[in-house]
This record gives sequence, structure tokens and C-alpha cells, in this order.
Amino acid sequence: MEKREQLYEGKAKKVFKTDDENLYLVQYKDDATAFNGLKKGTIQGKGVINNKVTNFLMQMLEAKGIPTHYVQQLSDRETLVKKVEIIPVEVVVRNIAAGGLAKRMGLPEGTPMASTVLEYSYKNDQLGDPMINETHVYAMGLATPEEMKAIQSYALQINDILREYLKEADIDLIDFKLEFGRTSDGTVILADEISPDTCRFWDSTTGEKLDKDRFRRDLGNAEGAYQEVMKRLMGE
Ligand code: ADP
Ligand code: UDP
Repeated sequence: MEKREQLYEGKAKKVFKTDDENLYLVQYKDDATAFNGLKKGTIQGKGVINNKVTNFLMQMLEAKGIPTHYVQQLSDRETLVKKVEIIPVEVVVRNIAAGGLAKRMGLPEGTPMASTVLEYSYKNDQLGDPMINETHVYAMGLATPEEMKAIQSYALQINDILREYLKEADIDLIDFKLEFGRTSDGTVILADEISPDTCRFWDSTTGEKLDKDRFRRDLGNAEGAYQEVMKRLMGE
């Protein structure tokens, strides 16, 4: 597989074309940003960990019937994925109040939700990814009702699968963000990443934060926390 021209450089990854028109190569960086790019830094080794953790979790989800963009890991930082047209709706799944939800609803962080919360944002950096609801999605033509039905069903299944798996690793899944895309034949599949950058992971026993909040909130040792997640999930 040959790497061709760079299509895009985002905050955490670069995306390249390949000599197969249906496949992209994603390359994970150590760059960390928060608060819509206002805070910038580096988490040493993060790219390698997020690449490996994402691929591990996507393969597990595939085995349980969730279609994903994962094709093949090429190196520590590079993975071959199915090319999709990203649906510009970020999906946040929440089990326990934290971050934006805790703030908006006036709930102490750590308050369990009586049922799973699904939130949507319009994926648009210039606008700061504003929160939207399903009527905005249809009014703006971001996705069809059929696509949203698939996305909701996948998001809830992914939550159940990940929660159960992470429990065995003594990790509570507080909340996480997903992105979906359309393949060339219009099928909706899971894309982007599932990593300590995009999930809140709390140690079930101590409550210690094992995710990007260590960087966002200057809690220290983000590197160690990312490493710990990889070790607990993959034994490396
Ligand atoms: P951001 O764009 O938010 O800064 P990244 O740095 O992670 O995020 O950049 C990766 C970009 O690649 C994102 O915009 C994401 O939506 C997009 N992407 C992820 N998976 C795929 C895929 N399979 N096909 C096309 N684009 C993808
Ligand atoms: N998240 C993400 N990218 C974003 C916004 C959120 O990966 O652009 C993840 C974040 O890591 C957390 C979950 O989504 O696991 C909810 O985040 P938060 O409550 O901080 O988001 P907000 O509601 O403030 O946008």
C-alpha cells in the first residue's frame, strides 16, 4: 500500500490518500488541544497509544457486529481505514455526568444518569461544534432519518459493548464522542477514533482520571494515564 498526498491535517491526526481510491491512511500525532484549540500542548507517545487503542477497540466492535472504518494497522502511528464522507454530526454518549453536561445541568461530576444520554453537535471548528438536536440535523440536511436511526442504534450498542469490556479492566466509561461516515455505497459505519482523547475513563476503584482531562485540567501525568489504559486493555 502506497501513501500518497496529504488530504488533511487535523488537531490530532493527518489523513493521506493511498493508491487504493477506497482507502485512506490516518497518522496519529502527539499534539494535544483543548477548548476548541485554545489550549495547545504535547502528550508524549499519545499518537502511538491512540492508534493502537482505537484499532483494538474497533476490531472488538467489528467482531460484535458494528461496522467500522478499520482495515489494517500499518505501523505504530499509521492505520489504513475505509474512506468515508464524514457525517458532520458528533455523537456524545453519556453514562455519568461530567464536563459539559455537569456544567449545563448543574450536576456534580460523577452523578450517574438514570438512563443513557445521547447528544449531537454540528462538527464545525469555526463555530466551536455547537450542540444541536435531531430537528437541526434534518433541517440542515446533515443526515437522513434512516442514517440517524442507524447512528443511534450503533451508538447505544457501542456503549453497551465498551462499558462491559472496560469494567473487566477496572475502568468506568463516563462518556465518549463518536463520528460516523458514509462509504461510497452509502452505508453508515463508525469512523475516526475511540481513545483516551475522545472518552472519559475513570479508574473504577480509585476514581482516578485516565483520559484527556489530565491535559485539559492540568492534572499531570497524562502520558502515564494513556499508557495505563493501553496496558489494562491490551496488556502492553
Ligand atoms: P479534527 O478534524 O477534529 O482536528 P483529527 O485531527 O482527528 O480531528 O483529524 C482527523 C479527521 O479525519 C477528522 O476530521 C475526522 O472526521 C476525519 N476522518 C476520520 N476517519 C475518517 C475516514 N475513515 N474517512 C475520512 N475522514 C475521516
Ligand atoms: N469530546 C471529544 N471531542 C470534542 C468534544 C467532546 O472527543 O470535540 C468527548 C470528550 O472527551 C468527552 C465527551 O466527548 O469524553 C463529552 O465531552 P464534554 O462534556 O467535555 O463536551 P462538551 O459537552 O463540553 O462539548
